Amino acid sequence: MERILIIEDEEKIARFIELELEFEGYEVEKALDGREGLALAQACPFDLILLDIMLPGLNGIEVLRRIRLFSDVPVILLTARDTVVDKVTGLDSGADDYITKPFAIEELLARIRVALRKKRAAAPPSTILEAGIIRLDPVRREVWAGEHQLELTKKEFDLLQFLMENKNIVMKREVLLERVWGYDFEGETNVVDVYIRYLRAKIEEPFDIKLIHTVRGVGYVIKDE
Ligand code: CA
Repeated sequence: MERILIIEDEEKIARFIELELEFEGYEVEKALDGREGLALAQACPFDLILLDIMLPGLNGIEVLRRIRLFSDVPVILLTARDTVVDKVTGLDSGADDYITKPFAIEELLARIRVALRKKRAAAPPSTILEAGIIRLDPVRREVWAGEHQLELTKKEFDLLQFLMENKNIVMKREVLLERVWGYDFEGETNVVDVYIRYLRAKIEEPFDIKLIHTVRGVGYVIKDE
């Protein structure tokens, strides 16, 4: 699900856009001032940001300049003003597009689709791994169960990635230990069992699914249900 951040101080407008975007199937967060919006943009990745120019405190152009220091997320500026200067300043500051209030929601939705399409076209080829409802993105190092993003530790992530890359192939404990932990060893494989338990607690139990299967005396395999 694509995530959109709305930074807009007029609560009614922000709420209206939020409802429309959610209806279209986007996941939406909103911030009512520039500083809060910037903090949200820094805290988690968004696929697109709708940014009002006239904001109290930190204005939209300043927010945009700061976002551009760490992210190339598509940004569409919203503004009540329609002057050439604003438009040029906005685009020079790194905005992808610009829409003047009042706008028809259909026009905003169309521009959002265009900006997201450009972003997807520019993105490196997808290497998303899937098994049942679980999706793993090795590049962004994200794991999702349906629309829920999961928090995994580095080792949990690496173990899950390796099992998903080898879906339907039984992986011996020794192989997992060597490939995920880098041990070339004989003996203790308990650590693998422990981490499998951690993974199950995070990716299976909350969603009532069975993904990682134990092959007694051998190891583990992820199977698509
Ligand atoms: Ca405003």
